[in-house]
Amino acid sequence: MFDLKDLYQEVIIDHSRRPRHFGKLADSNREAEGFNPLCGDRLVVALIVEDGLVRDVAFEGVGCAISTASASMMTDMVVGKAESEARALFRQFQELVTRKAPPTADELAAIEKLAALTGVRAFPARVKCATLAWHTLAAALDEQHEAVKTE
Ligand code: ZN
Repeated sequence: MFDLKDLYQEVIIDHSRRPRHFGKLADSNREAEGFNPLCGDRLVVALIVEDGLVRDVAFEGVGCAISTASASMMTDMVVGKAESEARALFRQFQELVTRKAPPTADELAAIEKLAALTGVRAFPARVKCATLAWHTLAAALDEQHEAVKTE
């Protein structure tokens, strides 16, 4: 039988082993650093933002499988999007992993591959791993120069 949990697991493993958009970004004009002391995840998100559009994005750092997979999926999803769309996606994802009510099928469909990460809902400490890249992205968009900390 088709098991959604197994599929989600595979997506996470794939992104953590072969992270997309990993490395330095030449000519980036926004950058922020994020740190999750609880797990030890640390990453830098770099962006090229032009005319309100995320033209390119990359990340570097070390972290657990969840934080790396989350950063990889995030970069895949925000590249080419308007800054406002990227922020909206962050809010949506954040809400689905932190609120009490489980996500509906429509909500999961709306966040595409990020749905694979919504299983962290059951593990509050892992929520920080899964959202670190997004907090760091938001800080980069806000041109915040102090490192983001999840604690
Ligand atoms: Zn972690």
